[in-house]
Amino acid sequence: MNIESYIRVTPDFPKPGIIFRDFTPLLANGPAFGALIDQLKARYAENSIDVVVGVEARGFVLASALAYALGAGTVLVRKEGKLPHETHAQEYELEYGSSVLEISKDAFTEGQRILVVDDVLATGGTIGATLKLIQQNFSVSIEELLFLIELDDLSGREKLPDLPIHSVFHY
Ligand code: IMP
Repeated sequence: MNIESYIRVTPDFPKPGIIFRDFTPLLANGPAFGALIDQLKARYAENSIDVVVGVEARGFVLASALAYALGAGTVLVRKEGKLPHETHAQEYELEYGSSVLEISKDAFTEGQRILVVDDVLATGGTIGATLKLIQQNFSVSIEELLFLIELDDLSGREKLPDLPIHSVFHY
């Protein structure tokens, strides 16, 4: 099963000059999506993961499927104003302007072992803000940062704290 062949490349989306890597064809194919989750399940089988954290929105899809496979829970890191309970918030810079991510104040219990998942690691801004949200507010063990795709030229991983990072595909 060549999972990578289901990642579609769309040039000039969402604007000219950007090469957009789109994994929705992989999600839409049962055997390919299943093979991906099985591969990740095997990677973390011995880690006793309690919670898989997904970053809005495509990270949710990967996080929830993997959490189910591992017998873990899922926590959602959402854009501002979406979570109904009390939240912690973290602002981060975008190419133009800034944005805010939030997490529920009761997302974790002390000492839980977690994975943090997003679809793409580009500049690292999104996952950097997610890590601040977690590390500044909770006492948990981040076992690994997991991405389906890492865009190596953008060197996002160099801006992140010293944590294990696994990306399934590099471009
Ligand atoms: P960063 O904050 O620059 O690392 O960008 C990562 C975020 O942007 C992720 O949440 C991705 O969903 C999104 N993103 C960036 N580039 C791509 C891409 O080529 N395909 C899909 N999503 C992307």
